[in-house]
Amino acid sequence: MSFCQNTHFHFQNLKRIQFFKIQSFSNQITGRGFTTKYDTLIKNGKVVFRNSVKIADLAIQNGKIAVIADKIEETAEQVYDASDQYVMPGMVDIHVHMCEPGRTEWEGFETGTKALAAGGTTTYVDMPLNALPATTTKDALEKKLAAAAGKNYVDYAFYGGLVPGNLDHLKELSDCGVVAYKCFMASCGTDLPGDFKNVDDYTLYAGMKKLAELGHILLIHAENAAITDGLAEEMIKQGKTSPADYVATRPVFTEVDAIKRALYFAKQTGCKLHFVHVSSAEGVEEITKARNEGQDVTLESCPHYFTITTAQFAEIGPLAKCSPPLRSEAEQEKLWEGLKQGKIDMLTSDHSPCPPVMKDSETGNIFEVWGGITGCQNNVDLMFDEAVKKRNIPITQFTRMIATNPAERFGLKSKGEIALAKDADLLFLDPDRPYTVSAEDLYYRHKHSPYIGRKIDCRVTKTFLRGQLIFDLDGGGITGEPVGKWIRPAKVSDYAGVPS
Ligand SMILES: [Zn+2]
Repeated sequence: MSFCQNTHFHFQNLKRIQFFKIQSFSNQITGRGFTTKYDTLIKNGKVVFRNSVKIADLAIQNGKIAVIADKIEETAEQVYDASDQYVMPGMVDIHVHMCEPGRTEWEGFETGTKALAAGGTTTYVDMPLNALPATTTKDALEKKLAAAAGKNYVDYAFYGGLVPGNLDHLKELSDCGVVAYKCFMASCGTDLPGDFKNVDDYTLYAGMKKLAELGHILLIHAENAAITDGLAEEMIKQGKTSPADYVATRPVFTEVDAIKRALYFAKQTGCKLHFVHVSSAEGVEEITKARNEGQDVTLESCPHYFTITTAQFAEIGPLAKCSPPLRSEAEQEKLWEGLKQGKIDMLTSDHSPCPPVMKDSETGNIFEVWGGITGCQNNVDLMFDEAVKKRNIPITQFTRMIATNPAERFGLKSKGEIALAKDADLLFLDPDRPYTVSAEDLYYRHKHSPYIGRKIDCRVTKTFLRGQLIFDLDGGGITGEPVGKWIRPAKVSDYAGVPS
């Protein structure tokens, strides 16, 4: 069977929901004795809407938010009390590396999506690497879809890859429903058949031209490959192989240089861009400047760039290796400034797991270990703690970064917001429930993470996918079956532009 033949995703039962909306709201307003039995009620929570936080009740019918009101008196099959907790849209994590098929021993859909669910993520978009084959052709996407079916605990979508030699495959990937495309300007991949490869300048330029025609967004890992590779070679030759040495081979300017070049290529081609895991304030500034000049470009950063410094990387070791690397405390402070000013459109996990053996170097050479952070399970509460609790970032801004902006930018129209007729993808967060991250609580295939041992002063306690409870901290953790569905995005013409 070809997975790509399914029709485009659309709202099911929309008419019925409109009916409920009108009935229920008129009931709330007029106070007539009309009773409706809903599937689920969520009561007394501090509900985080797009621009406000209010204590409200939510009724859910057929997986959708059917009623929002101060009080809902009707009955439901399931009733959850969210008193003293925030009810927020589930995270839409648009940067996750599930490594299935081909490298399932690194991380697979089952373990990876249990971790996402436990962390409050209800939808993710899977990167076109590190599975084998990489998602760079229709055939490879079909292998992904076949491998993913029936194993996901949250909803999922896919990116296609832009790599040397696959220009003629970009359209077929779009026709099959990829959300957008990803390329690497930094060196990546192996010589294994089907593995991902970074772009050369021609592929980057020609790929952008093609994607501009298709109206699609190109995601870019921006680091100057020649300079970072050269610096690394030199460093290793000198026998300098510590975390600080690794960071020194990927200085901020190598990120900024790649960002500027990609923006210039995009200006020539009219391609829409999204920069992944921006690690420096200067990078954020360049992107903001281009956007102010009219370019269609967004950016994301990741919790680790806000919560782990180069000095802490030296203490933690290989588990905190990633690229671009973790920055100095001073650089991190500047990144926080950018976030406070609303310049970080989205937060993503860049969950990039691997087996422990790949984080282990007998000689202690940091250059030899896998660069990627296992962290998606703790991202929502970690960043709520750091951004909202410690730095007074508005909760509405926080939920826009983790849910609304990514959903809108990438055409996931039923996701990302608590509003009528949206999917009832929700999380409960208890702002006064501290915990310390421990290996036993992690659902990853390999239970390691740079956050183990870290105290976080709030916690995700429940997660709902389309109205169904999928994670319950006090009820045994992951509940039920892997009911996640593949989501195809809206037509690219319906994607939102840059967030206002
Ligand atoms: Zn990544």
